Amino acid sequence: MKTIRPRRKTARRRRAPAVPEPPPAAVLTTLPDTWRPFVGRWFEGEGCEVRSAARGDWEIELTPDLKKRWRRQRVRLVFDPLRATLPRGAWFTAPGSGAGRRVLDLALERPLVTQRTALAQVPGAPESGIASVCRVRGLTWGPARLGPVRYERRIAFHAIVTRWGGLPTQEPWIIMLDAEGRLIEAVNGRRFEDVRTREGLYQIAEAPDDATLSLWMDAARAHFDALMDEREREWESSVGRLRDDELERLGAFFSARIEEEEERQRRRTHASDEADLGHGDATSLKLEWERRSAEVRHRWSLRTEIRLWGIEEWSWPVADIDQELRAGAVHVRLHSLVDVARGLPALPNCPSCGVTAEMLVRRHGHVACVQCARD
Ligand SMILES: [Zn+2]
Repeated sequence: MKTIRPRRKTARRRRAPAVPEPPPAAVLTTLPDTWRPFVGRWFEGEGCEVRSAARGDWEIELTPDLKKRWRRQRVRLVFDPLRATLPRGAWFTAPGSGAGRRVLDLALERPLVTQRTALAQVPGAPESGIASVCRVRGLTWGPARLGPVRYERRIAFHAIVTRWGGLPTQEPWIIMLDAEGRLIEAVNGRRFEDVRTREGLYQIAEAPDDATLSLWMDAARAHFDALMDEREREWESSVGRLRDDELERLGAFFSARIEEEEERQRRRTHASDEADLGHGDATSLKLEWERRSAEVRHRWSLRTEIRLWGIEEWSWPVADIDQELRAGAVHVRLHSLVDVARGLPALPNCPSCGVTAEMLVRRHGHVACVQCARD
């Protein structure tokens, strides 16, 4: 029996055309593959019209804003690094070229804005309900009752924090606020790792008004400031020791040199009267010590920069949860909120003082947190 093999689908090499073609697209791979799509998306995102032009160039019709900024109507972008000459007024566009830097600087100026929905987990909360996050002593939990899932608006600010001084470091941070600007969480990272998402804003139709936007921005600034104060204190305790060590070594070095110099001066005074020079040397050593110490302090002095690079508007699934705590005749109903995207109930409030409690105990026939029970 004859077997028919499917023809290989590899394209046969085309014959060389009579007229030499412009350099193939392969030469463009000397630029990072992500660069050209980034530039295209960025210009389109800004509202510009991007058209293909000859030899792989792009012709960009600028927005009124960019027209004013760059003082031109349109711009031709050349991506081919091997092109010997550029068309008149065209920009060679690589990450480090003048045009590339113009685009990157502008792209960094304004944060990206996206809308996302966190997907609900099924079931929305663990079987044990609030008991999964709060321990009890002398009490037993009744069954948990989970309410219907609803979606609430949240807003997340993504920033890169750079700390200069001594050992410069960078950290990505996200802070998430509720619709009233209250802090829900601060995460040291680039994304919420434990949440599945999709694009778009589920069940939230109306756009926030200007007052809400400025409330969020003010709240975000305040929360970032508080967060950075805390991080700077941690930095001070972990890195401040290195600075003090360096100052100490400098001090030991210069005090030894000054001592030597003064000793030499004393011997000279005995021998002859040319003491002034020796005294002058000790003084200049002290001045040098001061100068070097100031240098060290300056090098280690802390400076924090925060660059906001992204804002995410979220639709986040939450649900109410109710559960009874029992001890003999005592029945207390506890309420909490479940983060349904993570399937995690929040800590309940102490029925006596109202503060969030990790543990609840029985006290004089009431339910109380450890703090209340101690008082
Ligand atoms: Zn309490």
